Amino acid sequence: MEIPYKIYLSESEMPRYWYNVRADMKKKPAPLLNPGTHKPMTAAELSGVFCDELVKQELDNTTREYPIPEEILSFYRMYRPSPLVRAYCLEEKLKTPAKIYYKFEGNNTSGSHKLNSAVAQAYYAKQQGLKGVTTETGAGQWGTALSMACSYFGLDCKVYMVKVSYEQKPFRREVMKVYGASVTPSPSDTTQVGRKILQEHPGTTGSLGCAISEAVETAVSNPGYRYVLGSVLNQVLLHQSVIGVETKIAMDKYGIHPDVIIGCAGGGSNLGGLIAPFMGEKLRGERDCRFIAVEPASCPSLTRGVYAYDFCDTGMVCPLAKMYTLGSDFIPAPNHAGGLRYHGMSPILSELYHQGMLEAVSVPQTAVFEAAEAFARVEGILPAPESSHAIKAAMDEAIRCRETGEEKTILFGLTGTGYFDLVAYEKFHNGQMDDYVPTDEELTAYAAKLPKI
Ligand SMILES: *Cc1c(COP(=O)(O)O)cnc(C)c1O
Repeated sequence: MEIPYKIYLSESEMPRYWYNVRADMKKKPAPLLNPGTHKPMTAAELSGVFCDELVKQELDNTTREYPIPEEILSFYRMYRPSPLVRAYCLEEKLKTPAKIYYKFEGNNTSGSHKLNSAVAQAYYAKQQGLKGVTTETGAGQWGTALSMACSYFGLDCKVYMVKVSYEQKPFRREVMKVYGASVTPSPSDTTQVGRKILQEHPGTTGSLGCAISEAVETAVSNPGYRYVLGSVLNQVLLHQSVIGVETKIAMDKYGIHPDVIIGCAGGGSNLGGLIAPFMGEKLRGERDCRFIAVEPASCPSLTRGVYAYDFCDTGMVCPLAKMYTLGSDFIPAPNHAGGLRYHGMSPILSELYHQGMLEAVSVPQTAVFEAAEAFARVEGILPAPESSHAIKAAMDEAIRCRETGEEKTILFGLTGTGYFDLVAYEKFHNGQMDDYVPTDEELTAYAAKLPKI
């Protein structure tokens, strides 16, 4: 069958449910622990921080399919289905016998897949009658997505933005303001934890872990507010499964079966969502597929981290999660421009990696930008640096196929566009980008500070 350049779904083919891969995992991801007692977090404890329905989803290891509420489906209709593209031009450029597909999540104003979970989290907050939500944002995609979702449902949105990004990415900040969010550079003097961090590290440019601590403190100290997180958590992977379910419906329509699925991994939400239904088939023993997480060599949580309980934030106010981690104090080198800078990895992906169901590779950032540019020149889309990690690994896989003659089907997640990352592209073009990789000594020092559980 002739495969079109872009595969879309019709209204009636669209997914009506999210798929919960935990239901098919024999060994489940480890539970979140209370940082004080080291006992699994109960629903009652979690509900002080998160909305009730999201707490339920977070703890639910057994329900396989969650119907997507009608209000969320209508929001999804504004920008979904996202196109599944057959990368004919890239294949030709690489002279590879491999068939390359990518699922493009950048077709919305926030410019990435993050809107898929933002709308779900805002919807449940509204359902619960809350006034607003707080969150952190690094590069700004999550903050933008959440601002859009909150303005749609009439919720207040308070965003703590990592200071270095706040200063380097003024345009993202303004987009959030278009959607009515308040944006505070983190660390700030608006929270106790922020003041403490500023005192201990004056001049710090901030980190995601630190911004999380500030957002959580603001949520728990303001009545009618809850905290929401854009990645890592089980609930976020659940919402992001819409990417994978849509992809699978589209591929099944044409009888296409991916041999390998590749995605960039920061906290693991896009990759976890894209692979979910395919991983389900593998876990149930129905069909095999390889899954590859791609991370930056400067923030290598899966490839060089340890699998242990750790704090999700720098201020140590969040529950402990068992994950591949570099330690909650880890901050990638300031020259790292490509996103994906979180110190830990989704507990679901961590457990799957630990079981050998998922592979991981790390790539240096100049190679990522070279791949990004090669891709932009043939496929037309200016990719986000984060997404370009997946492009790099997919191109490498396609080049290997050229050498071996294998006609593999490669699928990768193209998570977003790079229009707000032009400072990073500029550094690349001016030769100001280096490939700093943390030494073993540095990583060992961070790992030594992990909580003893
Ligand atoms: C946030 C983001 C990522 C990484 O987050 P995950 O939770 O690992 O998916 C990747 N690409 C883009 C464009 C992003 O905005």
